[in-house]
Amino acid sequence: MRRGFKALAERNALSARQVLGLAANAPIDPWAYARQLGVIVLEFAELDLAPETANQLTVVDDESWSAMTLQENGSFALVINPAHATTRQRVDLMHELAHIELKHAPSRVEVSKTGVLLLSDYSDEQEQEADWHAGALLLPRDCLVAMRARNSTVPEIAAHYGVSEPLCEWRLRMTGVDVQLARARTRRF
Ligand SMILES: [Zn+2]
Repeated sequence: MRRGFKALAERNALSARQVLGLAANAPIDPWAYARQLGVIVLEFAELDLAPETANQLTVVDDESWSAMTLQENGSFALVINPAHATTRQRVDLMHELAHIELKHAPSRVEVSKTGVLLLSDYSDEQEQEADWHAGALLLPRDCLVAMRARNSTVPEIAAHYGVSEPLCEWRLRMTGVDVQLARARTRRF
């Protein structure tokens, strides 16, 4: 990951809360954040797909996709797979918003007859950045430090911030929060 990116993600997590009028340690609603960024989140039902297609995408093969990003005349619209758990929809939405906010250019763009672009195939590095950014927005490092200092458990933190427990564990591990707190505790004695 490029130098300074992790710090940028934490700054963006804080400024996202500021523009939404939230406290620095508040849980964030990805749908509200999308509105703030001017990104439209379409309901899957609004796509008016043929019943067989809808069934294919949400029942038969619902693991085949998480989210789609469309672009028309410079505006972005997203669709999130409604068959997935809310915690997953939240992180998938944040992931797609990260691609937009970070101005990632996909290597593949499909164009519909009406001129709508379907963006896909980001580079591995861009995917890593989007994953990291989404995790930081949902679970800022400072929030993890504060929750862990109060001895909150992974299930408690995950429930409070509306994320899955594996995502919470991943953030705790990757940000080194538990290691930092353990060191701080040792130093006191
Ligand atoms: Zn992606």
